[in-house]
Amino acid sequence: SGDDKKNIISEFKLDPEAELRFEIETKNEKVLLTLKSGSAEVFGTELVKGKTYEFTSGAKIAVFTWQGCIVELKGKTDVSYVAKETPMVLYMNCHAGLDQMRLNAEKNNTKGPMCMVVGPNDVGKSTVCRILLNYAVRMGRRPLYVDVDLGQGQISVPGTIGSILVERPALIDEGFPQEAPLVYHDGHKSPGDNPALYKKLLTQLGSTIKDRLEINKKTKMSGCIINTCGWIKGVGYKFILHTMEAFNVNVILVLDQERLYNELVRDSPRFVKVVFLPKSGGVVERSKGARGEYRDQRIREYFYGTPKNALYPHSFEVKFSDVKIFKIGAPALPDSCLPLGMKARDHLTKLVLITPNPGLLHHLLSVSFSEKDDDDMILSHCAGFICVTNVDVERQQLTVLSPQPKPLPNNLLLLSELQFMDSH
Ligand code: ADP
Repeated sequence: SGDDKKNIISEFKLDPEAELRFEIETKNEKVLLTLKSGSAEVFGTELVKGKTYEFTSGAKIAVFTWQGCIVELKGKTDVSYVAKETPMVLYMNCHAGLDQMRLNAEKNNTKGPMCMVVGPNDVGKSTVCRILLNYAVRMGRRPLYVDVDLGQGQISVPGTIGSILVERPALIDEGFPQEAPLVYHDGHKSPGDNPALYKKLLTQLGSTIKDRLEINKKTKMSGCIINTCGWIKGVGYKFILHTMEAFNVNVILVLDQERLYNELVRDSPRFVKVVFLPKSGGVVERSKGARGEYRDQRIREYFYGTPKNALYPHSFEVKFSDVKIFKIGAPALPDSCLPLGMKARDHLTKLVLITPNPGLLHHLLSVSFSEKDDDDMILSHCAGFICVTNVDVERQQLTVLSPQPKPLPNNLLLLSELQFMDSH
């Protein structure tokens, strides 16, 4: 019976440099992981011996050991096996190379490595970033994590790009703590939906980060790890080149794609080190549906937290007259109608004031930090996000879900294409 399955306990003895991989697919399933003896890590975060870690549906995990260990799984996994072949030694070598650059940077008071991880979807880019950040922080470094993947981003909500300072290893079952993230609103699931906007935001995030690195010496020498999206052909490749420029990237790790590796060797300046890395056999491919679910889950976590770390958002009403809601991108005008000096593609990053209407229902809105509602508003970062849960045209007010209580920190809001159905 189901109850029996929940109590299944399996023990795994891992040789040095092996990893236990497991996946939980079944909804509402819980699996508990405990390190019994030896030492082990999950994507670069060390497990504490005897402590129990909880994973839920959707988890795809590898428990890797350098020295060998015994671990126990309790509960029903859909997949679980031990793999002896992993690229972890190569990833560790990358970390060692980056750390050598940090030591040099410290000596010469220059910037540490600006390292970008690229490759197609589902090759473990985010996982490699996490491993490298964890190894860096375990050695006392304080790197920045930059994520420019709009659709599957790990900072704030989908439809944004941003950065966090990493001061502690990622939590095994929750990822990196997100204190004071630096977030820019794009509002789309894919950078191709508004390339002009996305490039502008990359440039803006790049220059803000440049300033931040100058302020903090420890972070400056620690450098950045930059995660990118899996779109690597055509326009996607242009975005990669733009990211390289915007962040002054000097190390590129290319996962799995030799063709992309060769293109980047050809197209990057001499001082950029381009390194090819194989993907791990454990990386699991995700369907389009699974990507959509991941986005929903990210937004849900933004408002409600995780089972272990619940958040309690607020719901309140906002008068139409108390806010200004903008959408980014005006309809294109023929060249002959454009004001002098304006380029035809400028309309893509223009702000358009919208009248609140039932079409806003379920949409995310970012709350801008901007003081003025001119076109530069898109270049200012966000205070946070709210979700429209009701539009009352008669009473001229919105109901919103917000992480913070009333009032909103600013009355300037930007509309996102992303939606969230609040089922609480
Ligand atoms: P990408 O960023 O390239 O899209 P991810 O790093 O998000 O890929 O990896 C995809 C999925 O595979 C994630 O759910 C991750 O937890 C899982 N994964 C990565 N490496 C391993 C591994 N060695 N064993 C098991 N699962 C893994």
